[in-house]
Amino acid sequence: MANKFDELPKHASVFLLGRYAFDIDKVKETVGISVRYDNKNDVTRVYYESRPDLNILFYTAHRSKGLQADYVFIINNKGKKMGFPSKVQNPPLVDMLLENAEQYPYAEERRLFYVALTRAKRKVYLVTVEGNISSFARDMINKYGEEMKKEEWSCPLCGGQLKRIKGRYGPFYGCSNYRSIGCRYTRKIRKSNADT
Ligand SMILES: [Zn+2]
Repeated sequence: MANKFDELPKHASVFLLGRYAFDIDKVKETVGISVRYDNKNDVTRVYYESRPDLNILFYTAHRSKGLQADYVFIINNKGKKMGFPSKVQNPPLVDMLLENAEQYPYAEERRLFYVALTRAKRKVYLVTVEGNISSFARDMINKYGEEMKKEEWSCPLCGGQLKRIKGRYGPFYGCSNYRSIGCRYTRKIRKSNADT
């Protein structure tokens, strides 16, 4: 993860997002990184020695709702219990939380994962521990990796419909699940292939 920090532009804002508050514990062990709780602002700040210009905050996915940073690192996303996405969950909550009530396995976890993914203005990194990527993250990449490169009418993050939206700076495509699950996927409207 730290080597990725080196590549980021000057003064970039960064979120480290975990499933649980204790996910920061692994980060604390990393050489060159220190973690401090900022009482005044009620946030957990992460300092990377060789890039003091970076503004790095740690949040749980739950707490990150409504917030955005340039770069997001989803941490501890390994395919174990207590990883992210977690296999510890409460199925009855699912129907209440998802408007479409699709019977995904781990639906609440997926919803949280979308929240985490969509916190990034520029780029999301899935940070794996010992090359151990979660089965869910792998599914997401296998299923949507190719689609994201194509012009299609379904949202590559959540499967919602892309709708033409009149934005303040012109029209764009937005996800129909923006209201229900807070999916913030948007896509530029291409005028021609030459524009891309
Ligand atoms: Zn969506």
